[in-house]
Amino acid sequence: MFKKILIANRGEIALRVQRACREMGIQAVVVYSEADREAKYVKLADEAVCIGPAPSAQSYLSMPAIISAAEVTDAEAIHPGYGFLSENADFAERVEKSGFVFIGPTPESIRLMGDKVSAKQAMQRAGVPTVPGSDGALPDDPAEIKRIARAMGYPVIIKAAGGGGGRGMRVVHTEAALLHAVQTTKSEAASAFNNPEVYMEKFLQNPRHIEIQVLADQYRNAVYLFERDCSMQRRHQKVIEEAPAPGIPRRLIDRIGDRCAAACKKMGYRGAGTFEFLYENGEFYFIEMNTRVQVEHPVTEMITGIDIVRTQILVAAGEKLPFTQRQLQLRGHAIECRLNAEDPYKFTPSPGRITAWHAPGGPGVRVDSHIYSGYCVPPNYDSMIGKIIAHGDTREQALARMRGALAEVVIEGIKTNVPLHRELMVDANFEAGGTNIHYLESWLAQRERG
Ligand code: ADP
Repeated sequence: MFKKILIANRGEIALRVQRACREMGIQAVVVYSEADREAKYVKLADEAVCIGPAPSAQSYLSMPAIISAAEVTDAEAIHPGYGFLSENADFAERVEKSGFVFIGPTPESIRLMGDKVSAKQAMQRAGVPTVPGSDGALPDDPAEIKRIARAMGYPVIIKAAGGGGGRGMRVVHTEAALLHAVQTTKSEAASAFNNPEVYMEKFLQNPRHIEIQVLADQYRNAVYLFERDCSMQRRHQKVIEEAPAPGIPRRLIDRIGDRCAAACKKMGYRGAGTFEFLYENGEFYFIEMNTRVQVEHPVTEMITGIDIVRTQILVAAGEKLPFTQRQLQLRGHAIECRLNAEDPYKFTPSPGRITAWHAPGGPGVRVDSHIYSGYCVPPNYDSMIGKIIAHGDTREQALARMRGALAEVVIEGIKTNVPLHRELMVDANFEAGGTNIHYLESWLAQRERG
């Protein structure tokens, strides 16, 4: 096993990985930007290295800065967390070329899945169902683009091959709007993702976002850790996640889960990963694969008892998966609310000093957050400051525990979306379970009209 790991990330996930290291007796090195100097997890780490000024481009996205931090501290492996360089194949390659282990899949897997067009094609070859769409990237010929859309039927969605984080997507309802939408998405994609390639998919009207968590080792053992329902989204960004997905028959999950595990074996995938699907009328349609640990991984940990971060580290060190599919058992239900430093009505970011923080607790309540009283949320990064996860024997119990946790939590000095979560946890439709990906947006629009 590794003696020392460098964590190339910040915030709650830097703390989460550090906790796994501590439990495993591994020393943790954290890197930090000047804006994160005061973070508690930086002080808690065995070693900490400042890698640059606040802007991520000069710190958390700087490959040379991170690799030299690993060199000076003699770390053996690098955990990339999520976001930043976690899905950057060039980074994974440079890490390995510099003699360190990248805690994640091979650069080839990351590259294949990082391009959504090649990812979809790989899934089709592996027998995983995908959203009907253009075969590969869209051609330049306007007549051909129109023909593809007409054959599929409107509405369609134009998506950037290199897109991510809910960006680089445009829904088109009529032929009149098609070519302009393709052009705009292309130029946005060229500047945002350095890849102008776009593709077209049928826009599903009322799907749910269901994803399958997988874990694989380098010996072609792969398992799926059931599913998560991440349909509660705003602007294609997840707000609430839960596991299992309410109302989906187990046999459907097992069938798609088996396909995902088989695809991992076929691709020689190693590490943690997530197959994201849209689910409509009993069918799953693959949209993309995330080749890293996800923000919402704790709900799966709560229902399986498997530590996903620990397993990532084990398989990166060359160990075999310590469990088989048959040993995995689904226990109860878990819900996660993402805590964002933002206005709960207007969603404008609300960085600044936290004057009071009282974390909730009690049976089945888990808080993954790096914040503390007196901590200053820097304005430079994502607004997510942590997560509350509630687990129970049933969905009702998990919900009740989440309501209790949200009633207890105190965060003062900055605005957060806690009031939004409090409202949603008593919403009749959310309570019933199985809301689709448009539900939260329409709920918000309704609230605005008031
Ligand atoms: P990203 O990588 O930016 O997260 P995804 O491809 O995972 O992009 O899509 C994000 C979200 O966009 C989905 O969860 C879903 O809400 C919506 N979406 C994507 N593709 C479609 C589609 N074909 N039909 C309807 N909604 C879609």
